[in-house]
Amino acid sequence: MTENQVIAETEKKQKPLMNQFLQVVNNHELSHSYLFNGEEGVGKLSLALFITMRMFCKNVSDDSMPCGHCDECRRIAEQQHPDVVIIKPEGLSIKVDQIRYLKSEFSKSGLEGNQKFFIVCDAEKMTTGAANSLLKFIEEPVANIVSFLLTTNKNLILPTIISRTQVVDLNPLNTKMFNEELTNLGVIPSQFKIIKRLTNQMSTVQEWQEDEWLTKVISAISQWFSMLVQRDNTSFVLVQSNIMPLVSDNSKRQVIIDMLLSIFEDVLDAKYTGSKDYNFPKQAQNIEQLSQSINEAKLIQIMEVILNCNNQMAVNVSFQNILEATTLKIMKILNS
Ligand SMILES: [Zn+2]
Repeated sequence: MTENQVIAETEKKQKPLMNQFLQVVNNHELSHSYLFNGEEGVGKLSLALFITMRMFCKNVSDDSMPCGHCDECRRIAEQQHPDVVIIKPEGLSIKVDQIRYLKSEFSKSGLEGNQKFFIVCDAEKMTTGAANSLLKFIEEPVANIVSFLLTTNKNLILPTIISRTQVVDLNPLNTKMFNEELTNLGVIPSQFKIIKRLTNQMSTVQEWQEDEWLTKVISAISQWFSMLVQRDNTSFVLVQSNIMPLVSDNSKRQVIIDMLLSIFEDVLDAKYTGSKDYNFPKQAQNIEQLSQSINEAKLIQIMEVILNCNNQMAVNVSFQNILEATTLKIMKILNS
């Protein structure tokens, strides 16, 4: 990020917290350790970098903002500042050696009296060893050292660490900003609703955008559904030919199940609320057609059949078998 992006993003996503922290800094009340808890994409790192810039900036403006163009601001935003260490997972976890490195760096300069900040991204990914090592570090706060731990799930952080930090919960993005982020990732508006139904993690959405996976899977499930609505047995064949090639790992299986469920939620919505805000807007005609030709008991039965896929996945039945059996069961209910 550039220094101006840090400031702009913080202002846009977390303005109330930004102002609160400016006040804290002006009152010289900044704590030694904070835990920023909030969903991905809400601006945790930006906020931490912003506060750090404010503390290091040589040119703070009259309204107490970091200037955003001095050397200090620039190096912090570029994550190149020698007194600002940013720790991120190496592979799947943050390892004890990374925390040891941090401690050795900081004990050196602590002696020189330099102000030092560190930021631990994805703090929930610390190994137990790393967490315990960090704990010893933040247990004995040193005057010039400030830490920000960032997490998407504070429930995964050791309680002993939580008790030594100030926990700050960051609000999720409002719908408008969430949609903006989706647009930035190249998602088309007709997919906004289904994405929100499935995840709030921007990194997951980004993954789904690769090779247009999401668009392909929406299209495969739409086709499967429209065959079902027409009571056409082709829907069974589509499992192997269209859906299975898109299922590469376990997490994708869960998404497929959730999508099957969400298209029948659309039918339920059409039947009872008359809302036309569908997960699968392009299937509106089929959704409404089915909603008129099916009673509530059958619809609930179908949703139970789909939910039951989760139990079968837990006992390792092959995913193709699960989907094919599910398709047959739905067909049977529709034809009964
Ligand atoms: Zn500055």
